[in-house]
Amino acid sequence: MIYLDNAATTRVDYRVNELIKPYFTDQYGNPSSVYRFVDNLKMDIDTARIQCANLINASPDSILFTSSGTESNNWVLKSIAEQNNYNCHIITSCIEHHSVLKTCEYLENKGVEVTYIPVNKNGIIAVTDIKNAIRPNTKIISIMMANNEIGSVQPIAEVGKLANENRILFHTDAVQAYGHTYIDVEDMHIDFLSASGHKINAPKGVGLLYARNPKLLTSFIHGGGQEEGLRAGTYNVPSIIGLGYASYYANQEFGERYTNVQILRNKMANKILEEIPNVKINGSLDNSLPNNLNICIKGVDSAALITLLSEQEMYVSSGSACNSGDEIPSHVLKAIGLSDEDANSSIRITLSHDNTEKEIEEFVKILKQFVKTLRFFQN
Ligand code: PLP
Repeated sequence: MIYLDNAATTRVDYRVNELIKPYFTDQYGNPSSVYRFVDNLKMDIDTARIQCANLINASPDSILFTSSGTESNNWVLKSIAEQNNYNCHIITSCIEHHSVLKTCEYLENKGVEVTYIPVNKNGIIAVTDIKNAIRPNTKIISIMMANNEIGSVQPIAEVGKLANENRILFHTDAVQAYGHTYIDVEDMHIDFLSASGHKINAPKGVGLLYARNPKLLTSFIHGGGQEEGLRAGTYNVPSIIGLGYASYYANQEFGERYTNVQILRNKMANKILEEIPNVKINGSLDNSLPNNLNICIKGVDSAALITLLSEQEMYVSSGSACNSGDEIPSHVLKAIGLSDEDANSSIRITLSHDNTEKEIEEFVKILKQFVKTLRFFQN
């Protein structure tokens, strides 16, 4: 098979898989217990905290483990709104992941005001738009670091600086960026950052929330005293350890992975544009994640194309996997100016650092054939 849907999820790194196996079998204790059997588990969780913190230049005690990027996004936005009795203003963008957009919608129903900043044709916000949207009651700005559909990377350091100058909290959903692009929470003035294990070759069902000052959060899941009493629930030990090691490897291998995947992505983009007529890149390959290529193939129904490709065990997606199944054209593609028809003719190809040139050649060859067939029958 040729798997090119790494923005949806990634394979667990074989090294990570080996390292976490003992936590399912031999070292199965509950780290919140008080006997010696679990002493090393507490230390191993703290090591994971350090490994995650090192990837984003954070302090380890500012890393809080959650179940997902979705939970992290919910936690931070709902916390800030609740602390302000839902009487406040949030600035976000119109191309956020649904875990931010739906949370904002929920908060609007409770009285919170939300401004959704538009993006240009490359999927990038203008910092001046955020500046102009600031109100006396703006309590938090939440702008994603990299978009999950078109890969656009936002000017996060500039937004962070603006937020900081205005004494407004700054949150970034870095689920697609964590381990894939450079992040420094200090340089970028980030107060909160969400990340997720399954996007960086760690298991599913684990995420993190970086909180510069965890005391600014309210307890969202009530129960035991885990995570300094802020996030109850028995630790998901294997997954947390897995997120730690995946972050460690992403940090160690960052430069090599980034360059290789970007070269491969660019080669694939050039090949597709050369060999298949009437194809347009959605967004831009500049200021984008190195592994993302979103293209509009004029006159081709993307759902039909994806089905044909999957019959050949080649996997790509149309928009975000989290929305798959709904027929509404992607809000991100609409936001960058695509018509419904063009949005429904678009596919997202997201590579991993372990895809090969041979796979890309094979994929483009098959893609070309299917596009020709579909254009013949659909037009
Ligand atoms: N934010 C972005 C940008 C995403 O791409 C995703 C998942 O695709 C999420 C949040 C949700 O993360 P999780 O799957 O860990 O809930």
